[in-house]
Amino acid sequence: MVHFVGAGPGAEDLITIRGKELLERADVIIYAGSLVNPGLLKYAKEGCAIHDSARLTLDQVIDIVKDADGKGKEIVRLHTGDPSIYGAIREQMDALNELAISYDVTPGVSSFCGAAAALNLEYTLPTVSQSVIITRMDGRTGVPEKESLESLSEHGSTMVFFLSAGDTERLSSRLIAAGRDKDTPCAIVYKATWPDEKKFRCTLENLPEVARENGIEKTALIIVGDVVEPSGYEKSKLYDPGFTTGFRKGTDS
Ligand code: SAH
Repeated sequence: MVHFVGAGPGAEDLITIRGKELLERADVIIYAGSLVNPGLLKYAKEGCAIHDSARLTLDQVIDIVKDADGKGKEIVRLHTGDPSIYGAIREQMDALNELAISYDVTPGVSSFCGAAAALNLEYTLPTVSQSVIITRMDGRTGVPEKESLESLSEHGSTMVFFLSAGDTERLSSRLIAAGRDKDTPCAIVYKATWPDEKKFRCTLENLPEVARENGIEKTALIIVGDVVEPSGYEKSKLYDPGFTTGFRKGTDS
């Protein structure tokens, strides 16, 4: 049996209790060494076989899984953040389906939540933005045409860019050319929740400069939108004394 487990954004204590227990029981752990905090491997039991998937191809990962599963072993496939976001788990699940190997998924705290925590930020502020677009800029991996940065930007929603910190110059100039105000508040968060986390608030225009000056090129998220530096917003209706909810009678009725 294979357990896909979200490791969380970085801090060792941000894995879920379920994820930690699965690590403790695993006979084999295959972890994404490029991003997963290796400190989490301290939860592995003695004798657990540990593989770094950063050095492996998909076929090699599946071969390790097939061999271990054939021997009745418990396998943890440890992915950074939450496995459903840029985790390349679908292709692994499809290969496991073909081999009739069973699996389940334990979610994790995605780095975009870790970054919001680092910035004390609420993504969904009433009257400012009620939507978060999780995306990436096209690079060596393309994005579908209908999801180009320019077309997604038209919504004016909060945007969180994964896998794009290597070319903030292009990201910034394309968003500005697409009509986003150059003074739009932005943030860049490097290694959110890790001990060496770095976070900077800036504007869309000076984002490339801030990234360059601080040597940030990878393992970072870029957040674009007024929620980063809101000039005003409406308070939530949920806690408004006038507003009746299923749990509380307001003064409006
Ligand atoms: N499944 C992961 C994302 C994997 S894609 C998740 O849910 O977070 C890898 C990209 O995620 C990196 O290039 C970077 O953009 C982002 N990332 C992962 N961990 C991060 C962290 N701790 N801080 C900032 N960005 C991070």
